[in-house]
Amino acid sequence: MSKYTFTKALTALTIAALSCWTQASEVAIVIHGGAGTITPDKMTPELEKSYRDILTKASEHGYSLLKQGVSSEQAVIETIKIMEDSPLFNAGHGAVLTNQEKAELDASIMRGSDLAAGAVAAVTTIKNPIELAYAVMTQSEHVMLVGKGAEVFAEELGIEQVDNDYFITPRRLEQVRAAKAREATAMIPKPEKYGTVGAVALDASGNITAATSTGGMTNKRYGRVGDAPIIAAGTYADNAVCGVSATGHGEYFIRAAVAHDICARSLYKDISLQAAANQVVQDKLVAMGGDGGIIALTPRGEVIFSFNTAGMYRAGIDAEGRRTVGIYADED
Ligand code: ASP
Repeated sequence: MSKYTFTKALTALTIAALSCWTQASEVAIVIHGGAGTITPDKMTPELEKSYRDILTKASEHGYSLLKQGVSSEQAVIETIKIMEDSPLFNAGHGAVLTNQEKAELDASIMRGSDLAAGAVAAVTTIKNPIELAYAVMTQSEHVMLVGKGAEVFAEELGIEQVDNDYFITPRRLEQVRAAKAREATAMIPKPEKYGTVGAVALDASGNITAATSTGGMTNKRYGRVGDAPIIAAGTYADNAVCGVSATGHGEYFIRAAVAHDICARSLYKDISLQAAANQVVQDKLVAMGGDGGIIALTPRGEVIFSFNTAGMYRAGIDAEGRRTVGIYADED
């Protein structure tokens, strides 16, 4: 082997080793538990502590999985399941109810490495809708399944199903009945509080996955589908640019194509993801009258939050291990 060939081979080896090393980069995770009129006067110290504890628990769990080398897909699923199982959030157990006083759940997941995506909408028996969204992505030829068809698919795969009563909590029943009473007197206020959950993770291979799960909006019409299961509205991921999960008034988020617009603005306008998120959430949505917020990650594992409401339940651990847990607008 000539000295030149040897040196070239050595350089190639060094680059390969370095790129492996840079690829096996630091991991990051960001989560939300909904945005809305969340102010200290609507909280008790105990309730606030419960939210902060579960946001910490969920984000730390996802982060520790990522640290162990688990994929961003599995990390977001496991993180979201903690929040779907908690009655504190509007997803899974504790989801808000339709005008028929039933839970109808929506969820989606998107993988940034190949833009694969899966979603389910208006399911009424799936214990953890995020698992079914993932199954649609990985085990069907489709991107979205709804209602009965989604449930038949779950049955075929043996995904856990429960009676609709499992999702219903006294607090949500009270909430929907109050909303219906207001409706009957023609006082239709803007929806007061959301509680959708979402997670975006960056794994050690540089793959970003974003996912969102929700019960939708209190007193929604039977059959209504929001932005959470709509790829590009409530959820979007592309390894080159971003991962985004949204929460807020879904009708606006669908029309504004929020999650995709944030990624597209950042890429096409060559602006930071935070600036792009602020343009969409603070300017575009506000001009339309759409309340809510987003969480996002950059490919370098920077944590992004943007919301135009009084609060957003949120937590993040960035690529440098910096931790944030917040509820109100004036934190961080
Ligand atoms: N975006 C959800 C929906 O409209 C609600 C929420 O985020 O709380 O269904």
